[in-house]
Amino acid sequence: MKYFSTNKLVSPVSLIEAVTKGLAGDEGLFMPERIDEFHPDFFKRIPRMSFQEISFEVAKKFFGEDIPEVILKDIVYDTLNFDCPIVQVKNSIYSLELFHGPTLAFKDVGARFMARLLGHFLLGFEREVNVLVATSGDTGSAVANGFYDVPGINVYVLYPKGLVSDIQEKQFTTLGKNITSLEIDGTFDDCQRLVKSAFNDKELNQALVLTSANSINVARFLPQAFYYFNAFARLREAGITNDLVFSVPSGNFGNLTAGLFAKYLGLPIKRFIAANNENDIVYKYLKTGYYKPSESVSTIANAMDVGNPSNFARILELYNHSHSDISADIVGYRYSDDEIRETMKQVFVEDNYMLDPHGAIGYRALKADLKDGEVGVFLETAHPAKFTETVEGVLGKGTVVLPEKLEAFMKGKKQSIPLGTDFNGFKQYLLTK
Ligand SMILES: *Cc1c(COP(=O)(O)O)cnc(C)c1O
Repeated sequence: MKYFSTNKLVSPVSLIEAVTKGLAGDEGLFMPERIDEFHPDFFKRIPRMSFQEISFEVAKKFFGEDIPEVILKDIVYDTLNFDCPIVQVKNSIYSLELFHGPTLAFKDVGARFMARLLGHFLLGFEREVNVLVATSGDTGSAVANGFYDVPGINVYVLYPKGLVSDIQEKQFTTLGKNITSLEIDGTFDDCQRLVKSAFNDKELNQALVLTSANSINVARFLPQAFYYFNAFARLREAGITNDLVFSVPSGNFGNLTAGLFAKYLGLPIKRFIAANNENDIVYKYLKTGYYKPSESVSTIANAMDVGNPSNFARILELYNHSHSDISADIVGYRYSDDEIRETMKQVFVEDNYMLDPHGAIGYRALKADLKDGEVGVFLETAHPAKFTETVEGVLGKGTVVLPEKLEAFMKGKKQSIPLGTDFNGFKQYLLTK
């Protein structure tokens, strides 16, 4: 399958090129050339299939032409060595828990898949690939753990000194081996600028193979379609056949866009809810038709603090830039920090379910939008323990139990390399590695 750029100024490329490049040469995002719908019989069969079995069938739709079936099966089964259960929270509202992976957030799925896919492509490739990732916390841990110990790949995690939580920092600085943490004396924006400058630097790109591992990369973002199918299958398995609505807490919109791909593959989804914090650029677009990126603002759902969502270009492409078609399939909601706290508290007290700040936005938007006769699923994108301080600030001290996986990270020793915000220093560091 070929992948074309949303900007359409360069020729379509192979999967391996799309994955190793990340962003297209014209700065567009790669899109698969075709999305072939499943035969309707598939949807009758999947209630009896496991998460892995379903995901393998979905993976074949995207990657089946480029990767031998036995290898693709290994990649999928090895990626998904954890479950993604669906839990009823209240009446017709269900939580799709995407936090049972190694770093307790949904990004594990895409990061693990991408690492294994890239690892496969690099067999017989004589050069090493360097993955650069700027993080405000969550992406760094998922990517570092996903790529840990994969031969032929070095990962550099750039993070702002003193601006990520202890738990987050431990999740990528304690690994060692092929994972290097660069502690930048600046902000997240500085980290992102350093990474961007590296991708645009001729000399650096001649000396090293560089790629990204955020949701711009097709190998990280497409696998996120898997769990929408699993939610459908588990509901059908339980005999629930109502019209289905998904609510997706969104920042860069990779997760929601993957859901749109699931719909294009034929999964019967009635509509999507784009649930935002105060970074409401897409919310405003849905209301007005005008898209105006802005600086991000800080909220307690900080993995969604994005002022110019990168995957928006993919949504426009999927719908031929039609605002009316987009707003027929996606409705927007936005909530303030106070509203997020209020929802976390209410659901904990009334329904005995602990939400993290991101999931709380998804829950609240779903509750506001769901119509009689519909069933709604919100994506619970992270375990509440990843945001212990915020969650306990609302629900009270001692309410959050740290899962074993997180405790293990906390015992590790932090290793990081301090760097300034100057690009030349960063460049020299990479060149002399
Ligand atoms: C990354 C992240 C999001 C936002 O996902 P996008 O694909 O960027 O829209 C939401 N919640 C959590 C916990 C995240 O880590």
